[in-house]
Amino acid sequence: MLDYNKPLPKVNADNKEFWAGCKSHELRFQKCKGCGHIRWPASIICPMCYSRDLQWIVASGKGKVYTFAVYHVAYHRGFENDLPYTVADVELEEGPHILSNIVGCSHHEVRCDMPVVLSWEDITEEFSLPKFRPLS
Ligand SMILES: [Zn+2]
Repeated sequence: MLDYNKPLPKVNADNKEFWAGCKSHELRFQKCKGCGHIRWPASIICPMCYSRDLQWIVASGKGKVYTFAVYHVAYHRGFENDLPYTVADVELEEGPHILSNIVGCSHHEVRCDMPVVLSWEDITEEFSLPKFRPLS
């Protein structure tokens, strides 16, 4: 954890609540109070109805692999020891799609529509990353 050498999240006013949730191992999303749309990434207005009225909800952490890619080349030296690794677009039960890694299995086992569940990775004192592993 102390020698984490990958890029760190950039916190801003919109995503501050998201990253605070991750630190508490809660995957939080904005839900529009106007139309009920659950959105990601976080923003000040709803992309569906332009309402600024929102609440934060905690996602179940369950979803499925929408699509994925297996990286055999590290485009940042911090990822060299992870090769090959899987980057997936995970479709959450609540609707949002989130880009993350599939962990806890070989990249040969990853399939589209594969059920997955959250697996937190505590990378520094301040940050925990939401990753996903097969639901079994
Ligand atoms: Zn809305």
